[in-house]
Amino acid sequence: MNIAENLEKLRKSLPGNVTLVAVSKTKPVAAVMEAYHAGQRIFGENKAQELVTRHAQLPGDVEWHFIGHLQTNKVKYIAPFISLIHSIDSLGLLAEVNREALKHNRVIDCFLQFYIATEETKFGFTPDEARSVLDSEIYKNLKNIRITGVMGMSSFTDDEALVRNEFRTLAGYFRLIRSEYFSKADSFRELSMGMSGDYPIAIAEGSTMVRIGTAIFGDR
Ligand SMILES: *Cc1c(COP(=O)(O)O)cnc(C)c1O
Repeated sequence: MNIAENLEKLRKSLPGNVTLVAVSKTKPVAAVMEAYHAGQRIFGENKAQELVTRHAQLPGDVEWHFIGHLQTNKVKYIAPFISLIHSIDSLGLLAEVNREALKHNRVIDCFLQFYIATEETKFGFTPDEARSVLDSEIYKNLKNIRITGVMGMSSFTDDEALVRNEFRTLAGYFRLIRSEYFSKADSFRELSMGMSGDYPIAIAEGSTMVRIGTAIFGDR
């Protein structure tokens, strides 16, 4: 199977309201270009430095998403061009994205990342932590970021019932945050969940955006 065929197959299996982010991390630029030529325009990367290199190598109409843990001191590298950051996990990071976005006269779309897995290694807010961010005066004064959804990663496991439960939990957080803080904002509408191994479950639980690498580009 080649990349174009993988993409074609995936697109056929995704409902029309679900956006596909092709996760190109660690893959050679030729592979990314192959996906580009097959019509893919949204790509996800999880390292700032690599993303800067990629951005310079690929055509200008690519929409770049940042999907990994983002260190505050790396925001400045991606702020000029990043379309969406899936992985906001602290108020400090959000404030830094705002600061750098302002320098470039941009408004950067961001998702709040929630912790839903059983693994300590994963990042993200609890609902109470997210509330304390959204209630803060600091957040209310940020004019160069816009929160447009939430993101989460399920546990790395074969236990489908557990994964389903975690995605269901995230979908619940999404509705909760939307009703408490964004009921008047149509722009808050994305639920980023689902990777190669679990995207059908994520979609069944309401995902609007899947982040898929291996199923397009092969094993890393
Ligand atoms: C690597 C990665 C993905 C894609 O994982 P695959 O299993 O290769 O589809 C999705 N989301 C995040 C946050 C990742 O780091």
